[in-house]
Amino acid sequence: MEENIRKLRQWISESDNIVFFGGAGVSTESGIPDFRSVDGLYNQKWAYPPETILSHSFFERDPEEFYRFYHEKLVIHGAEPNAAHRKLAELEQAGKLKAILTQNIDGLHQAAGSKEVLELHGSTHRCYCASCYKPWPASYINDCKGVPRCTCGGVVRPDVVLYEESLDQDILSRSVKYISRADMLIIGGTSLAVYPAAGLIHYYQGHKLVLVNRGATPQDGNADLIVRGNIGQVFSQL
Ligand code: ZN
Repeated sequence: MEENIRKLRQWISESDNIVFFGGAGVSTESGIPDFRSVDGLYNQKWAYPPETILSHSFFERDPEEFYRFYHEKLVIHGAEPNAAHRKLAELEQAGKLKAILTQNIDGLHQAAGSKEVLELHGSTHRCYCASCYKPWPASYINDCKGVPRCTCGGVVRPDVVLYEESLDQDILSRSVKYISRADMLIIGGTSLAVYPAAGLIHYYQGHKLVLVNRGATPQDGNADLIVRGNIGQVFSQL
């Protein structure tokens, strides 16, 4: 473990074109639960799995239940960036890191000071009317009891990619561009089991592919360096 961290530190010091790809594990150490992790509590409290409630068709069919879930599970008050967010912002500032690609929707990278953040799944910090597309502040949704309505009568929704919805093509192609040019790709806090993460890393052409994750991933065989552990703890040692 120590040896791997030393190697990671060395590679970072040698690189000036790092790209970071992060999943839910980057946020869990800031107290944001991975809503996909199904526990007993879920089954007691919700009639459907999160993938169903957070889908496009469910949002249209039952916005009340969607927002009951959203308000309880996705509106997180007082979450702060952790050591991983802060270190990544520092690396960008130092001109070493070019972009962060994230599957998280919590805006914590920006809160830590990062500028080039590609949010593959959108952000809960932006909202808009699903009917007329008028933008609304996130606080309008967060503070609303029940279903937030636009002045036009439409339902206001978060600017996040729901299940059944496609990813933003512009963000995807920019992500591919960053990854294909990177000399070092660090992937953290994701099991790499789901699209688009699994597909995106195939665009990487370098020889410094680093996986930082607590458990094994299907991509372990392709990695040049594997660091096992919580990403905040690992980054706090860099
Ligand atoms: Zn509207």
